[in-house]
Amino acid sequence: MARIAFIGLGNMGSGMAANLIKGGHEVHAFDLSADALAHAVEAGAVAAKSTADAVSASEAVVTMLPAGKHVRAVYEGEIFAAAAPGTLFMDCSTIDVDSARHVGGLAKEKGFRFVDAPVSGGVAAATAGTLTFMVGGSEADFAVAEPFLQAMGKAVIRGGDLGAGQAVKICNNMLLAITMIGTCEAFALAQKLGLDPQKFFDISSKASGQSWSMTSYCPVPGPVPTTPANNGYKPGFATAMMLKDLKLAQDAAQKAGATTPLGAQAEALYAMFDNLGGGPSDFSGIYKLLDGSWNQR
Ligand code: NAD
Repeated sequence: MARIAFIGLGNMGSGMAANLIKGGHEVHAFDLSADALAHAVEAGAVAAKSTADAVSASEAVVTMLPAGKHVRAVYEGEIFAAAAPGTLFMDCSTIDVDSARHVGGLAKEKGFRFVDAPVSGGVAAATAGTLTFMVGGSEADFAVAEPFLQAMGKAVIRGGDLGAGQAVKICNNMLLAITMIGTCEAFALAQKLGLDPQKFFDISSKASGQSWSMTSYCPVPGPVPTTPANNGYKPGFATAMMLKDLKLAQDAAQKAGATTPLGAQAEALYAMFDNLGGGPSDFSGIYKLLDGSWNQR
């Protein structure tokens, strides 16, 4: 079992670190928030005084930070000076592809191992250890990272070289947003045409309108009892998080010269929902905006 540094013990990181501890690893944790750090210590982590303190003498490092600027700040700081030769760095935050390639490049220049490994699955999956990891990095670095990521997830898949994990993540979430909005529109129209939502679900889920957004995450209450729609649209995966990923996708599309008109439209609709107070709601709650009932809550 290994000594692992864990930097960023917020909503996601706290559950992930707890699963590394359950897997028998010694986790040295650091977070700028004293509360987050205290919570990690309750779960069995050793509190470090700084990023450098956590990283020194650790053979692997996980970072789980809010956005690209935080990841750049941590990796451009004291982290490499404190690390032992051969240390493996795994950045599991969702960030822009350029920042992932930049910090991964810095690590590789200094002779360290590095993978970008963003996750699919929200706080519940982080706690349960059932995250899906989308990984970018060399085959050799992936082979070393895989067992650590397996301790926190149910699927660990390499998408390609540095940055590929982030690229897969934003393309996947752009597609998810588009299919969710399309599913919501179809249910809203079905209802206006006098159809019973359950009947529409029974038929469309077995016809060509079927998608994950319909059959696993149905945005109307009833047909799939476990979805946030049955729980007042409590996340789940918050609209504010989806909007962050859609902005990353549009930024990447612009830089890569890709044409993504539906991705742009999805970003605009989620931005509108966020402005109207939907940010903390589950992203499937955009159904309420599209069926016209959001303002009548
Ligand atoms: P969070 O804000 O709850 O946690 C981030 C933690 O990082 C905070 O505790 C903060 O204090 C800490 N931090 C920030 N800068 C730091 C620094 N320089 N040094 C040490 N600690 C620092 O965020 P979260 O919900 O845990 O999300 C983390 C990442 O996971 C994000 O990139 C997010 O997009 C991604 N993600 C989140 C979800 C979700 O449902 N919450 C799902 C998938 C992916």
